[in-house]
Amino acid sequence: MTTGTAGRVPLIAGNWKMNLDHLQSIAFVQKLAWNLKDARHDFGDVEVAVFPPFTDLRSVQTLVSADRLPITYGGQDVSAHASGAYTGEISAAFLKALDCRYVIIGHSERRTLHNESDEQVAAKVGAAVGSGLIPVICVGESAEDLEAHGPSAVPVAQLRTALSELKPGADIVVAYEPVWAIGSGQAATPEQAEQVASALRTVIAESLDADTAARTRILYGGSVKAANIAGFMRQPNIDGALVGGASLDIAEFSSISRFRSHVGT
Ligand code: PEP
Repeated sequence: MTTGTAGRVPLIAGNWKMNLDHLQSIAFVQKLAWNLKDARHDFGDVEVAVFPPFTDLRSVQTLVSADRLPITYGGQDVSAHASGAYTGEISAAFLKALDCRYVIIGHSERRTLHNESDEQVAAKVGAAVGSGLIPVICVGESAEDLEAHGPSAVPVAQLRTALSELKPGADIVVAYEPVWAIGSGQAATPEQAEQVASALRTVIAESLDADTAARTRILYGGSVKAANIAGFMRQPNIDGALVGGASLDIAEFSSISRFRSHVGT
C-alpha cells in the first residue's frame, strides 16, 4: 500500500452540507463507488469519505454495509452531550451506532451561523473521541483575521483550544479551511496552506505529543477542485482535502479522489 507523507493515508472528504436527501444520497454513493471502482481506485491508498445530512446516514450505512463499499462516512456535527433534554441534537453514540467513522466539528458555518465557540468545539471533540469517532476538527481564519493577524494565528489558537480535552494518541483529523476560501472559488495557494498546516502540526505536537502529530492527517479545505488538488497534495503537511461544492459532482469528486493520477501534472 502506498501511503502519504510519514505513512499517513490521504483522506478526500466530501462535506455535502444541507444537500441530498436520503434517496439522493444512496444513488450518489452507489454511483461514486462504481465510478471509482471502474477507475481502479485503491481505497487503501487514498481514503474517500462522505458527510451526508443526519437523516441520510442510516440509508448510507445500509448501502455501504450491504454492498461492502469501501467508502467511509460521518456526520456533519455532533452534540457535546451524551443524552438528555437537548432538542434537535445528535449524540456521538448515535453516530457511532450507524458505523460513522468520522464527524466534522467546528466547521466555519457552525461557528458563524450558530455562534459555536472554541470551547464548545473542544467539548464536542472530547465527546466524539470518547465515543470512538474520529473528529475532523475544522479551523480557519476570516479575511479580516488574515488582514489583522496574518495567516496562522487564528487557526493555531482555535486548534489549541479544540485539543484541550484530548490525551496523546487521540485519533483525530484536522482541516484547515480559510473562511475566505470556502465556497468562494478563491482557494488558498498550496504554499499558504502548507505554511498553516505546518503550524497546526506543531500545535498537535505541543498539545498532545510528537507521535500523534506525525500520525495526524491535516486536510486543506476551501474551493478544492480536480484542477487544483494536485498542488495541495504535493505539500508535505497536507494529507487530503475537505471538499464542499465539488463533492456534489460525482465526476469531479471522483477525479479529486484520484489525485495521484494527476499529481505529477
Ligand atoms: C467546505 O464546506 O468545507 C468547503 C471547503 O466548501 P468548498 O469546497 O465549496 O469551498
